[in-house]
Amino acid sequence: LVSRKKHPENTIVDVKGEKIGDGKQYFVMGPCAVESYEQVAAVAAAVKKQGLKLLRGGAYKPRTSPYDFQGLGVEGLKILKRIADEFDLAVISEIVTPADIEVALDYIDVIQIGARNMQNFELLKAAGQVNKPILLKRGLAATIEEFINAAEYIMSQGNGQIILCERGIRTYERATRNTLDISAVPILKKETHLPVLVDVTHSTGRRDLLIPCAKAALAIGADGVMAEVHPDPAVALSDSAQQMDIEQFNEFMEEVRSFQRQM
Ligand code: PEP
Ligand code: MN
Repeated sequence: LVSRKKHPENTIVDVKGEKIGDGKQYFVMGPCAVESYEQVAAVAAAVKKQGLKLLRGGAYKPRTSPYDFQGLGVEGLKILKRIADEFDLAVISEIVTPADIEVALDYIDVIQIGARNMQNFELLKAAGQVNKPILLKRGLAATIEEFINAAEYIMSQGNGQIILCERGIRTYERATRNTLDISAVPILKKETHLPVLVDVTHSTGRRDLLIPCAKAALAIGADGVMAEVHPDPAVALSDSAQQMDIEQFNEFMEEVRSFQRQM
């Protein structure tokens, strides 16, 4: 169902009027985790000021260590809903269990399935049974074929509103947190009709690489870029080393927009 051979037309995923996959390039920005109303509101105001509409933020955080901040759960989803209403933004947040999919429908505009759950088939099937866009991230060590099959799981249940997201894969290279597989973008665009985003934060794990990698993503034909922004990254409860502060976010937008004009 996701194959371009069967459906040559691009799928356009409409998120509160943002038509992802329509040929324009979108930015999904926001904190790694929802920590408080004030923290998300500070980022939402900056996102709004940049004329953007798509805000991300994790309420359920699948952390490598059980002792790290696990997220605010449904309280975090409620904060996102309040922010979405107050700032007229669309909110994207990760859901980690099938049981929480129903709850999420009331609070968020896009359900994210994270890298660690890309092959959680029960979660994929549950995501396939709702009428809500799904942002599916590539698994930590998933091949492109496995990634495409994960999207097929969702679509096989009836939900065709799927956005793919390349977020780096595990290789022997340690200079970056993961290795951004930039060629996955044109391959996914060729093999499927789904929109493709590139997450420059989790792929690199390095703040100094966000701008060049975002430019590469846009140049190679991604439908958009995801990156993390926090009002004070030094005190962030997760991904402190790679989130941008508001000033860096504004610089990031200025740089990538001037690059887009040259493209
Ligand atoms: C995230 O986007 O919040 C996240 C945890 O990313 P990933 O699943 O790609 O590691
Ligand atoms: Mn993060």
